[in-house]
Amino acid sequence: MDRCSVCGNEAVYCTRYEGHCYCEEHFIKRFEKRVRRTIRKYNMFGKEERLVVGVSGGKDSLTALYLLPRINPRWEVIGLAIDEGIPGYRDITLKDLEEKAKEWGVRIEVVSFEKEFGYTLDEMLRMKEEKGLPYNACTFCGVFRRYLLNKYARELGATKLVTAHNLDDVVQTFLMDIMRGDFARLSRLRPVVKSSNPKLVPRVKLFYNIPEKEVALYSLVKGIYPSFVECPHARFSMRWEIRKFINKIEEKQPGTKFAMLRTLEAILSNVRPSESIGVCKVCGEPSSSEVCRACQLRMELGILPPSSD
Ligand code: SF4
Ligand code: ZN
Repeated sequence: MDRCSVCGNEAVYCTRYEGHCYCEEHFIKRFEKRVRRTIRKYNMFGKEERLVVGVSGGKDSLTALYLLPRINPRWEVIGLAIDEGIPGYRDITLKDLEEKAKEWGVRIEVVSFEKEFGYTLDEMLRMKEEKGLPYNACTFCGVFRRYLLNKYARELGATKLVTAHNLDDVVQTFLMDIMRGDFARLSRLRPVVKSSNPKLVPRVKLFYNIPEKEVALYSLVKGIYPSFVECPHARFSMRWEIRKFINKIEEKQPGTKFAMLRTLEAILSNVRPSESIGVCKVCGEPSSSEVCRACQLRMELGILPPSSD
C-alpha cells in the first residue's frame, strides 16, 4: 500500500512525474494550492471580477464552477452552458449542471444552437452529409461553441471568460496545431488570451498546468463528479487519437505532458501575444478574417439568414 508523503496515511494518489503520494486530505490541499498558484503565476484574475465560466456539466467545468467562488468570494461567478443539441449526452450533462448549480447557489445561463442558429448540431450534421462537406462534428461544435461563449459572455458583462481547459487539453491542442500547421492558433494557446478588440472577452484556461487525472480525482473526492457520459462524436475526432497517443507516451515516460508544456511556453515566450482582430463583415463578431469561421460554416451549410441591411 502506498503511503502519503506528507502524513504517512493511506495514499489515494501518486504522481509518477514527481514520485510523491498523497492521502485524500493532502491531495485536496495540494490540488487547491496548485490552482491558486496557477492563478497567481499567470496573473489570471484581479481582486474584483465578473467571471463567466464556460460550463458543459463535465468534471472539469463543474470543478471550476465549484472552486472559483471559494477561492475568492468577491468574484462574481456565472456559468454559461451551450446546448449543441446532442441527444443522450448534452441533455444529461446539463441536468447535472443544473442540479449542482442549484446546490452551490451559482447562476447559470444556457444558450442553444437551435435557438441561435435555427438548427441543432445533429441537424447540421445531416445537412453536412447531404452537401458532402468534409468537416466532422467537432469542427462545427467547436467553432459555434467558441462563438457563442464569447458573444454571451460579453452580453453578461464578463471581465473574463473562464474555460476549464487542463494540461491534457493544452498539450493535445499543441500537437494538433503542429500537425495542422496552424501557427496562428498555436500562438493563442496561452493561459490568458487578450485582444485589442473590446468585443473579444479575455479568455482564461483555469487548469492550464494541471493534469486531467488530478482534476478528475478532485471532483471525485469532493463529490462533484457528474454522470459519466461521453459525447457520441468524440471517438471520431482527431483529438481522440492524439489523446490516446500522448497518454501512451506519458505512461512509458512520466512527465512527458509537462515537458510538452515547457516547450510550448518556450515557443510562446518568443511570439508576440496576439494579432489585431477585426470584426466579421457578416455578423459583426470578432474575427481575424473578413468573414468569421462561424459565418463561413453557416454559409457552407446554407443556414445563414439573409442580411437585414
Ligand atoms: Fe462537440 Fe466534439 Fe466535444 Fe462532442 S466531442 S461535445 S461534438 S467538440
Ligand atoms: Zn460572422
